[in-house]
Amino acid sequence: MMKSVEIRDTKQKVVAGKILCLGRNYPEHAKEMKAETPTTPVVFLKPSTALVADGSKVVIPPFSRDVHHEVEMVILIGKEGKNIAREAAFDYVAGYAVGLDMTLRDVQAEAKKKGLPWSVAKGFDTSAPISPFIGKDGVPDPHNLAISLKVNGKLRQQSNTRNMIFRIEDIIAYLSTVFTLEIGDLVFTGTPEGVGPVVAGDVLEAEIESVGTLTIGVE
Ligand code: MG
Repeated sequence: MMKSVEIRDTKQKVVAGKILCLGRNYPEHAKEMKAETPTTPVVFLKPSTALVADGSKVVIPPFSRDVHHEVEMVILIGKEGKNIAREAAFDYVAGYAVGLDMTLRDVQAEAKKKGLPWSVAKGFDTSAPISPFIGKDGVPDPHNLAISLKVNGKLRQQSNTRNMIFRIEDIIAYLSTVFTLEIGDLVFTGTPEGVGPVVAGDVLEAEIESVGTLTIGVE
């Protein structure tokens, strides 16, 4: 478990806060999940105990038989705010990382069927691997970055952050109407299409152009 996240270029460390995640933020992923394209962001949370660092492992809990990878760009919040205007949104961004929103798809499907929350499916220990962060100045246009994921060297997900339905300024403005954003909060911005299962022994390699890479094992 990691208690703090690091900004790579400054070696600055920030205590990890709450983890806010967007669901269905790429149209092709909404389609593959047979879900409607949302008109307001679909939001769920993970606890900070879900975080693991680059080079560590996702541990599949014994109560699941279908764990999926979801590669996502992650935003680090660098300033406290509430009801943030779209135009000011980037003042609250400290940096970006490569993340995986690991999901117990069988547990989630059961929860959806029964109308129950996703906390177990999305928030279990090791469900949120992240790379070190790069400061926002290192990424001139976060809405035009190639994003990909390989499992055991095979390409599974490939897209571009330009395909996000809700852009960073929309996401921050919306989230801050509900939650006070605090320094160290993380925002998972949703996954593109191509999600699929992983099993013990797999190696996941996630990459976002200009942001970095993330390598994670599975056990
Ligand atoms: Mg996701």
